[in-house]
Amino acid sequence: MRIAVIGAGIAGLVAARDLSDAGHEVVVFEKSRGMGGRMAARRSEGGAVVDHGLPVLDVPRDGVLAGYVVELATDDLVEVDAPGQPVPGRSTEGAPQLAWASGMTRLPKALAHGLEVVTDTRVAAIRADGEMLEVAQDQGNTLGTYDWVIVTAPGAQAADLLDHSPRGAVRAADLRAVPYDLAVMVLAGVAVEPPEWFAHRPLTGPITYVTSETAKERAPVDGVASFVVRLDPDVSERLMEASDAAVLAEALPALAKVLGKPAATPAWTQVKRWRYSTARDRLDQQVMNPEGTRVLVAGDAVAAGPRMEDVAATGQWAARRILDS
Ligand SMILES: Cc1cc2nc3c(=O)[nH]c(=O)nc-3n(C[C@H](O)[C@H](O)[C@H](O)COP(=O)(O)OP(=O)(O)OC[C@H]3O[C@@H](n4cnc5c(N)ncnc54)[C@H](O)[C@@H]3O)c2cc1C
Repeated sequence: MRIAVIGAGIAGLVAARDLSDAGHEVVVFEKSRGMGGRMAARRSEGGAVVDHGLPVLDVPRDGVLAGYVVELATDDLVEVDAPGQPVPGRSTEGAPQLAWASGMTRLPKALAHGLEVVTDTRVAAIRADGEMLEVAQDQGNTLGTYDWVIVTAPGAQAADLLDHSPRGAVRAADLRAVPYDLAVMVLAGVAVEPPEWFAHRPLTGPITYVTSETAKERAPVDGVASFVVRLDPDVSERLMEASDAAVLAEALPALAKVLGKPAATPAWTQVKRWRYSTARDRLDQQVMNPEGTRVLVAGDAVAAGPRMEDVAATGQWAARRILDS
Protein backbone atom coordinates (compact mmCIF):
# COMPACT_ATOMS: atom_id res chain seq x y z
CA MET A 1 0.00 0.00 0.00
CA ARG A 2 1.03 3.61 -0.54
CA ILE A 3 0.76 5.81 2.52
CA ALA A 4 1.40 9.55 2.93
CA VAL A 5 2.26 10.84 6.41
CA ILE A 6 1.89 14.56 6.97
CA GLY A 7 4.35 15.85 9.58
CA ALA A 8 7.78 14.61 10.65
CA GLY A 9 7.23 15.01 14.39
CA ILE A 10 7.32 12.03 16.72
CA ALA A 11 3.79 10.84 15.91
CA GLY A 12 4.36 10.95 12.16
CA LEU A 13 7.78 9.34 12.25
CA VAL A 14 6.66 6.51 14.55
CA ALA A 15 3.74 5.79 12.18
CA ALA A 16 5.99 5.97 9.12
CA ARG A 17 8.67 3.77 10.70
CA ASP A 18 6.20 1.04 11.69
CA LEU A 19 4.51 1.05 8.26
CA SER A 20 7.81 1.05 6.40
CA ASP A 21 9.16 -1.77 8.58
CA ALA A 22 6.02 -3.73 7.64
CA GLY A 23 6.94 -3.36 3.95
CA HIS A 24 4.66 -0.53 2.86
CA GLU A 25 5.59 2.36 0.61
CA VAL A 26 5.58 5.45 2.85
CA VAL A 27 6.29 9.09 2.06
CA VAL A 28 6.51 11.69 4.85
CA PHE A 29 5.81 15.32 3.95
CA GLU A 30 7.22 17.98 6.28
CA LYS A 31 6.74 21.70 5.85
CA SER A 32 9.90 22.72 7.68
CA ARG A 33 13.53 21.94 6.94
CA GLY A 34 14.17 19.42 9.70
CA MET A 35 12.92 16.40 11.61
CA GLY A 36 11.17 16.40 14.97
CA GLY A 37 8.50 19.12 14.90
CA ARG A 38 8.26 20.39 18.45
CA MET A 39 11.14 18.13 19.48
CA ALA A 40 13.47 20.80 18.20
CA ALA A 41 17.09 21.92 18.48
CA ARG A 42 19.12 24.65 16.88
CA ARG A 43 22.67 25.89 16.99
CA SER A 44 23.12 29.26 18.65
CA GLU A 45 25.24 32.09 17.27
CA GLY A 46 27.77 31.08 19.91
CA GLY A 47 27.94 27.55 18.46
CA ALA A 48 26.06 25.78 21.27
CA VAL A 49 23.29 23.24 20.65
CA VAL A 50 20.08 24.40 22.31
CA ASP A 51 16.70 22.64 22.53
CA HIS A 52 14.02 25.25 21.98
CA GLY A 53 10.98 22.92 22.00
CA LEU A 54 10.45 19.92 24.27
CA PRO A 55 13.23 20.30 26.87
CA VAL A 56 13.57 16.68 27.91
CA LEU A 57 11.89 13.38 27.07
CA ASP A 58 10.17 11.31 29.75
CA VAL A 59 10.62 7.71 28.71
CA PRO A 60 8.64 5.18 30.74
CA ARG A 61 10.46 1.87 30.91
CA ASP A 62 9.04 -0.76 28.52
CA GLY A 63 6.91 1.87 26.74
CA VAL A 64 6.63 2.79 23.06
CA LEU A 65 9.42 5.38 23.16
CA ALA A 66 11.83 3.22 25.15
CA GLY A 67 11.80 0.65 22.35
CA TYR A 68 12.80 3.19 19.70
CA VAL A 69 15.41 4.85 21.92
CA VAL A 70 17.10 1.55 22.74
CA GLU A 71 16.97 0.36 19.14
CA LEU A 72 17.96 3.59 17.40
CA ALA A 73 19.45 6.33 19.51
CA THR A 74 21.60 5.33 22.47
CA ASP A 75 24.81 7.07 21.49
CA ASP A 76 25.20 10.53 23.08
CA LEU A 77 22.11 9.78 25.16
CA VAL A 78 22.06 11.66 28.46
CA GLU A 79 19.95 10.89 31.49
CA VAL A 80 19.23 14.33 32.92
CA ASP A 81 19.26 13.82 36.65
CA ALA A 82 20.61 17.15 37.87
CA PRO A 83 18.85 18.34 41.01
CA GLY A 84 16.17 20.99 40.82
CA GLN A 85 12.56 21.19 39.95
CA PRO A 86 11.04 19.08 37.20
CA VAL A 87 9.91 20.97 34.13
CA PRO A 88 6.13 21.46 34.01
CA GLY A 89 4.39 18.94 31.84
CA ARG A 90 6.46 16.19 33.39
CA SER A 91 3.81 13.67 34.24
CA THR A 92 5.57 10.35 34.13
CA GLU A 93 6.93 10.24 37.65
CA GLY A 94 9.84 7.89 37.98
CA ALA A 95 10.49 7.67 34.23
CA PRO A 96 14.02 8.64 33.23
CA GLN A 97 14.32 12.12 31.69
CA LEU A 98 16.35 11.75 28.52
CA ALA A 99 18.11 14.17 26.20
CA TRP A 100 20.86 13.87 23.63
CA ALA A 101 24.08 15.88 23.80
CA SER A 102 23.70 16.55 20.06
CA GLY A 103 20.15 17.87 20.50
CA MET A 104 16.60 16.58 20.98
CA THR A 105 16.31 16.01 17.25
CA ARG A 106 18.58 12.99 17.64
CA LEU A 107 15.65 10.57 18.10
CA PRO A 108 13.49 11.94 15.24
CA LYS A 109 16.49 11.89 12.93
CA ALA A 110 17.12 8.26 13.85
CA LEU A 111 13.46 7.37 13.29
CA ALA A 112 13.58 9.08 9.88
CA HIS A 113 16.74 7.28 8.78
CA GLY A 114 16.01 5.28 5.64
CA LEU A 115 12.50 6.72 5.24
CA GLU A 116 11.47 8.91 2.32
CA VAL A 117 10.95 12.30 3.94
CA VAL A 118 10.16 15.25 1.70
CA THR A 119 11.05 18.43 3.62
CA ASP A 120 10.19 22.08 2.89
CA THR A 121 6.87 20.84 1.55
CA ARG A 122 3.64 22.07 3.04
CA VAL A 123 0.62 19.92 2.25
CA ALA A 124 -2.44 22.10 1.61
CA ALA A 125 -5.14 19.63 0.55
CA ILE A 126 -6.20 16.01 0.65
CA ARG A 127 -8.76 15.15 -2.04
CA ALA A 128 -10.59 12.04 -3.16
CA ASP A 129 -9.26 10.72 -6.47
CA GLY A 130 -11.40 7.72 -7.35
CA GLU A 131 -10.49 4.99 -4.87
CA MET A 132 -7.32 6.83 -3.92
CA LEU A 133 -6.45 10.01 -1.98
CA GLU A 134 -4.57 12.80 -3.68
CA VAL A 135 -2.22 14.93 -1.60
CA ALA A 136 -1.52 18.41 -2.97
CA GLN A 137 0.75 21.33 -2.20
CA ASP A 138 -0.06 25.02 -1.68
CA GLN A 139 0.31 25.83 -5.35
CA GLY A 140 -2.04 22.98 -6.21
CA ASN A 141 0.83 20.77 -7.33
CA THR A 142 0.07 17.13 -6.73
CA LEU A 143 2.28 15.20 -4.35
CA GLY A 144 0.90 11.87 -5.51
CA THR A 145 -1.98 9.54 -4.78
CA TYR A 146 -2.16 7.23 -1.78
CA ASP A 147 -4.30 4.49 -0.25
CA TRP A 148 -4.08 6.13 3.19
CA VAL A 149 -3.07 9.52 4.58
CA ILE A 150 -2.05 10.12 8.21
CA VAL A 151 -2.30 13.73 9.42
CA THR A 152 -0.16 14.57 12.49
CA ALA A 153 -0.14 18.39 12.54
CA PRO A 154 -1.32 20.22 15.71
CA GLY A 155 -5.13 20.46 16.05
CA ALA A 156 -5.93 23.64 14.09
CA GLN A 157 -3.40 22.88 11.35
CA ALA A 158 -4.75 19.34 11.01
CA ALA A 159 -8.24 20.87 10.76
CA ASP A 160 -7.17 23.01 7.81
CA LEU A 161 -6.12 19.84 6.03
CA LEU A 162 -9.23 17.88 6.88
CA ASP A 163 -11.67 20.65 5.92
CA HIS A 164 -12.00 19.50 2.33
CA SER A 165 -10.88 15.89 2.64
CA PRO A 166 -13.33 12.98 2.36
CA ARG A 167 -15.30 12.68 5.65
CA GLY A 168 -13.11 15.40 7.14
CA ALA A 169 -15.29 18.43 7.79
CA VAL A 170 -16.95 17.26 11.03
CA ARG A 171 -13.65 16.11 12.49
CA ALA A 172 -12.05 19.41 11.44
CA ALA A 173 -14.43 21.39 13.63
CA ASP A 174 -13.46 19.33 16.70
CA LEU A 175 -9.75 19.53 15.92
CA ARG A 176 -9.90 23.28 15.46
CA ALA A 177 -11.32 23.62 18.99
CA VAL A 178 -8.41 21.81 20.69
CA PRO A 179 -6.85 24.45 22.97
CA TYR A 180 -3.09 24.96 22.94
CA ASP A 181 -0.74 27.03 25.08
CA LEU A 182 1.40 29.47 23.17
CA ALA A 183 5.06 29.55 24.12
CA VAL A 184 7.56 32.31 23.51
CA MET A 185 11.06 31.01 24.19
CA VAL A 186 14.25 32.97 24.78
CA LEU A 187 17.54 31.20 24.20
CA ALA A 188 20.48 32.92 25.86
CA GLY A 189 24.19 32.35 26.32
CA VAL A 190 25.52 33.82 29.57
CA ALA A 191 29.10 33.85 30.86
CA VAL A 192 28.35 32.26 34.23
CA GLU A 193 29.44 29.15 36.05
CA PRO A 194 26.78 26.58 34.98
CA PRO A 195 24.28 26.03 37.80
CA GLU A 196 23.85 22.64 39.42
CA TRP A 197 20.17 22.49 38.55
CA PHE A 198 18.67 21.48 35.22
CA ALA A 199 15.32 23.25 35.49
CA HIS A 200 14.30 26.18 37.62
CA ARG A 201 10.72 27.42 38.06
CA PRO A 202 10.48 30.88 39.60
CA LEU A 203 7.44 31.36 41.81
CA THR A 204 6.74 34.84 40.46
CA GLY A 205 7.45 36.75 37.27
CA PRO A 206 6.93 36.07 33.57
CA ILE A 207 8.88 32.82 33.35
CA THR A 208 7.41 29.32 33.45
CA TYR A 209 10.85 27.74 33.62
CA VAL A 210 14.50 28.12 32.78
CA THR A 211 16.53 25.11 31.70
CA SER A 212 20.30 24.88 31.82
CA GLU A 213 21.49 23.15 28.66
CA THR A 214 24.80 22.28 30.34
CA ALA A 215 22.94 19.55 32.24
CA LYS A 216 22.65 17.73 28.90
CA GLU A 217 26.42 17.27 28.70
CA ARG A 218 26.82 20.34 26.54
CA ALA A 219 29.86 22.10 27.92
CA PRO A 220 29.89 25.92 27.91
CA VAL A 221 31.40 27.32 24.70
CA ASP A 222 34.20 29.82 25.48
CA GLY A 223 32.91 30.11 29.04
CA VAL A 224 29.36 30.87 27.89
CA ALA A 225 26.64 28.57 29.24
CA SER A 226 23.32 28.16 27.39
CA PHE A 227 19.88 28.64 28.91
CA VAL A 228 16.35 28.31 27.58
CA VAL A 229 13.65 30.50 29.07
CA ARG A 230 10.00 29.64 28.54
CA LEU A 231 7.66 32.57 29.11
CA ASP A 232 4.39 31.71 30.77
CA PRO A 233 1.33 31.20 28.53
CA ASP A 234 -0.34 34.57 29.25
CA VAL A 235 2.87 36.51 28.74
CA SER A 236 3.55 34.46 25.58
CA GLU A 237 0.13 35.33 24.21
CA ARG A 238 0.74 39.03 24.85
CA LEU A 239 4.20 38.91 23.26
CA MET A 240 3.45 36.55 20.36
CA GLU A 241 3.46 39.32 17.77
CA ALA A 242 5.81 41.67 19.66
CA SER A 243 9.34 42.49 18.53
CA ASP A 244 12.27 40.43 19.76
CA ALA A 245 13.45 43.49 21.68
CA ALA A 246 10.14 43.62 23.60
CA VAL A 247 10.41 39.89 24.40
CA LEU A 248 13.99 40.21 25.61
CA ALA A 249 13.13 43.27 27.72
CA GLU A 250 10.71 41.08 29.67
CA ALA A 251 12.65 37.82 29.76
CA LEU A 252 16.25 38.84 30.42
CA PRO A 253 15.79 40.61 33.78
CA ALA A 254 13.84 37.55 34.98
CA LEU A 255 16.62 35.24 33.76
CA ALA A 256 19.27 37.37 35.47
CA LYS A 257 17.30 37.07 38.71
CA VAL A 258 17.18 33.29 38.38
CA LEU A 259 20.92 33.19 37.75
CA GLY A 260 21.61 35.63 40.60
CA LYS A 261 23.58 37.80 38.16
CA PRO A 262 21.66 41.06 37.77
CA ALA A 263 24.48 42.66 35.77
CA ALA A 264 25.08 39.73 33.38
CA THR A 265 24.50 40.72 29.76
CA PRO A 266 24.03 37.65 27.56
CA ALA A 267 26.71 36.94 24.96
CA TRP A 268 23.94 35.96 22.53
CA THR A 269 20.16 35.62 22.47
CA GLN A 270 17.52 34.19 20.13
CA VAL A 271 13.73 34.29 20.30
CA LYS A 272 11.49 31.46 19.15
CA ARG A 273 7.69 31.55 19.10
CA TRP A 274 5.45 28.47 19.21
CA ARG A 275 1.81 29.09 18.37
CA TYR A 276 1.03 25.48 19.34
CA SER A 277 3.25 24.19 22.13
CA THR A 278 1.27 21.93 24.42
CA ALA A 279 -2.34 20.85 24.06
CA ARG A 280 -4.41 21.74 27.15
CA ASP A 281 -7.07 19.21 26.21
CA ARG A 282 -7.26 16.36 23.73
CA LEU A 283 -9.70 14.34 21.64
CA ASP A 284 -10.25 10.58 21.59
CA GLN A 285 -8.25 9.09 18.72
CA GLN A 286 -10.69 6.23 18.18
CA VAL A 287 -13.66 8.62 17.91
CA MET A 288 -11.72 10.97 15.63
CA ASN A 289 -10.96 8.10 13.25
CA PRO A 290 -14.29 6.42 12.51
CA GLU A 291 -14.30 3.08 10.73
CA GLY A 292 -14.11 3.48 6.99
CA THR A 293 -12.06 6.68 6.84
CA ARG A 294 -8.70 6.46 5.13
CA VAL A 295 -7.56 9.90 6.30
CA LEU A 296 -6.34 9.15 9.82
CA VAL A 297 -5.53 11.67 12.53
CA ALA A 298 -2.62 11.13 14.92
CA GLY A 299 -0.45 13.48 17.02
CA ASP A 300 -0.88 15.27 20.32
CA ALA A 301 -4.40 16.56 19.57
CA VAL A 302 -5.69 12.98 19.81
CA ALA A 303 -3.27 11.57 22.39
CA ALA A 304 -4.62 9.77 25.46
CA GLY A 305 -2.64 12.10 27.73
CA PRO A 306 -0.07 14.92 27.74
CA ARG A 307 3.06 12.77 27.68
CA MET A 308 5.33 12.20 24.68
CA GLU A 309 4.73 8.52 25.28
CA ASP A 310 1.04 9.15 24.53
CA VAL A 311 1.96 11.16 21.40
CA ALA A 312 4.17 8.35 20.10
CA ALA A 313 1.37 5.87 20.81
CA THR A 314 -0.96 7.79 18.44
CA GLY A 315 1.48 7.15 15.59
CA GLN A 316 1.67 3.50 16.50
CA TRP A 317 -2.15 3.33 16.67
CA ALA A 318 -2.56 4.83 13.19
CA ALA A 319 -0.01 2.41 11.74
CA ARG A 320 -1.75 -0.52 13.37
CA ARG A 321 -5.14 0.59 12.02
CA ILE A 322 -3.69 0.43 8.49
CA LEU A 323 -1.85 -2.83 9.06
CA ASP A 324 -5.02 -4.44 10.42
CA SER A 325 -7.18 -3.22 7.52
C1 LIG B 1 8.43 24.69 24.14
C2 LIG B 1 7.74 23.36 24.27
C3 LIG B 1 7.82 22.63 25.43
C4 LIG B 1 7.16 21.41 25.56
N1 LIG B 1 7.28 20.72 26.74
C5 LIG B 1 6.68 19.52 26.85
C6 LIG B 1 6.85 18.74 28.04
O1 LIG B 1 7.54 19.12 28.98
N2 LIG B 1 6.23 17.52 28.10
C7 LIG B 1 5.47 17.04 27.07
O2 LIG B 1 4.97 15.94 27.13
N3 LIG B 1 5.31 17.75 25.93
C8 LIG B 1 5.89 18.97 25.81
N4 LIG B 1 5.74 19.69 24.65
C9 LIG B 1 4.82 19.20 23.63
C10 LIG B 1 5.45 18.12 22.77
O3 LIG B 1 6.65 18.61 22.23
C11 LIG B 1 4.44 17.77 21.68
O4 LIG B 1 3.27 17.24 22.26
C12 LIG B 1 4.95 16.75 20.69
O5 LIG B 1 6.26 17.03 20.25
C13 LIG B 1 3.98 16.70 19.51
O6 LIG B 1 4.43 15.78 18.55
P1 LIG B 1 3.56 15.59 17.25
O7 LIG B 1 4.26 14.61 16.39
O8 LIG B 1 2.15 15.32 17.61
O9 LIG B 1 3.52 17.03 16.56
P2 LIG B 1 4.74 17.97 16.01
O10 LIG B 1 5.99 17.70 16.74
O11 LIG B 1 4.19 19.34 16.03
O12 LIG B 1 4.88 17.44 14.52
C14 LIG B 1 3.99 17.83 13.52
C15 LIG B 1 4.78 18.18 12.27
O13 LIG B 1 3.88 18.46 11.22
C16 LIG B 1 4.42 19.49 10.43
N5 LIG B 1 3.31 20.07 9.67
C17 LIG B 1 2.26 20.76 10.17
N6 LIG B 1 1.40 21.09 9.17
C18 LIG B 1 1.94 20.58 8.04
C19 LIG B 1 1.53 20.60 6.64
N7 LIG B 1 0.39 21.21 6.27
N8 LIG B 1 2.32 19.99 5.73
C20 LIG B 1 3.49 19.39 6.10
N9 LIG B 1 3.92 19.35 7.41
C21 LIG B 1 3.15 19.93 8.34
C22 LIG B 1 5.07 20.43 11.43
O14 LIG B 1 6.05 21.25 10.83
C23 LIG B 1 5.65 19.43 12.43
O15 LIG B 1 7.00 19.10 12.12
C24 LIG B 1 6.41 20.90 24.48
C25 LIG B 1 6.35 21.62 23.28
C26 LIG B 1 7.00 22.83 23.16
C27 LIG B 1 6.95 23.59 21.87
